[in-house]
Amino acid sequence: MTSSPKMRPETKVVHAGPEPDPLHGGVSVPIYQSSTFSFQNTDEGAARFAGRDPGYMYTRLGNPTTHALEQCVAELEEGYGGLATASGMAAVSTVFLSLLSAGDHVVGTDAVYGPTRGLAEKHLTRFGIESTFVPTEDIAAVRRAIRPNTKMIYVESPANPTIKITDIAACGHLARDCGALLVVDNTFSSPILQKPLRLGADVVLHSMTKYLNGHSDVVAGIIVSSNREAHTRIEGVLRSLGGTMDPHQAWLVLRGIRTLSLRVNRAMATAEKLATWLDAHPKVEWVSYPGLASHPQHDLAKAQMAGPGAMISFGVTGGFEGAKTMIDSVELMVLAVSLGGIETLIEHPASMTHASLPREERMEAGIRDDLIRVSVGCEAFEDLRDDLEQALAKVAIPATSR
Ligand SMILES: *Cc1c(COP(=O)(O)O)cnc(C)c1O
Repeated sequence: MTSSPKMRPETKVVHAGPEPDPLHGGVSVPIYQSSTFSFQNTDEGAARFAGRDPGYMYTRLGNPTTHALEQCVAELEEGYGGLATASGMAAVSTVFLSLLSAGDHVVGTDAVYGPTRGLAEKHLTRFGIESTFVPTEDIAAVRRAIRPNTKMIYVESPANPTIKITDIAACGHLARDCGALLVVDNTFSSPILQKPLRLGADVVLHSMTKYLNGHSDVVAGIIVSSNREAHTRIEGVLRSLGGTMDPHQAWLVLRGIRTLSLRVNRAMATAEKLATWLDAHPKVEWVSYPGLASHPQHDLAKAQMAGPGAMISFGVTGGFEGAKTMIDSVELMVLAVSLGGIETLIEHPASMTHASLPREERMEAGIRDDLIRVSVGCEAFEDLRDDLEQALAKVAIPATSR
């Protein structure tokens, strides 16, 4: 371990993980682009397969480059161990299939990443696993949804794309009271802004496609467990399911992580200014950003997170059509799904990421027709503001009242 718990976050992201290259002193971890690893003799091979020798055997079962990334993120999340996956959804599906069995029930955040809810409601049901998705920002709703067979509480906070905040510590208490595990998708915050394991989660997962990699060029995921038991259980299932990570992919993500603090803090500073600016714009009907005092969980966000992040959702006048006009008019911002990259991305969940949810469920989860989601990147505030300004000028219907 080359980072220490005492290090400040900016330092830790630069140094977390194992010594990069003990053999030659390289300051970057080498890419072990090898599918298999040779043994000196059958005894050594046997010792490795039996777990008596920690050496490598086969890349699906473990690889030095991938392992360096896993150790790095485990240190950042302050967990027992990390397991890198081929995508964020591989992390989600592996966690579900590792920790749930037929007859079990999961309570989840209603406004989770669309495919996560789809996986639970369309596919896990085939294996006898039930789920209930509720507005977890209302802790009483979580309590009401718990059944005798509830084995997992699955929280996304801030939620996607409503940017609602759930009290992670309170969910941890509820989970312990009913003998369930608390799993938190920490993609929207990254470990720079939020440490779910410290708040009482048993498992934290990420789509590293987003902030951790940060450059919109890799799809990747990771699972970090707080304890050895959960880690070992998930590891066994992951190695069998096969959604493991490629060493080159691992190296790219590790490189991205080194600038995580710089990127997140820069984007967040800009997001705070943009949210304030949007909030005062006559054609903007509402803004959901935890840094604004008007956000319903503003105080909780302050207590639970090191900062309000760089994700903003807002609505413009004219509903669905207004949102469409606005999004089609931006010139600098990129119309694309995903988030957490250095470039600012804008999207319309009702017609894109969350279109697969029936409209009624979508509205219940607070994903309104007019909701526009922006992932603020690292460009200058002034350029992003000017882009929003010119796009808002094209939205025809002026606000009559605010
Ligand atoms: C993108 C995303 C995922 C899925 O990750 P992939 O890398 O696209 O498979 C899961 N959760 C959240 C919150 C996400 O934003």
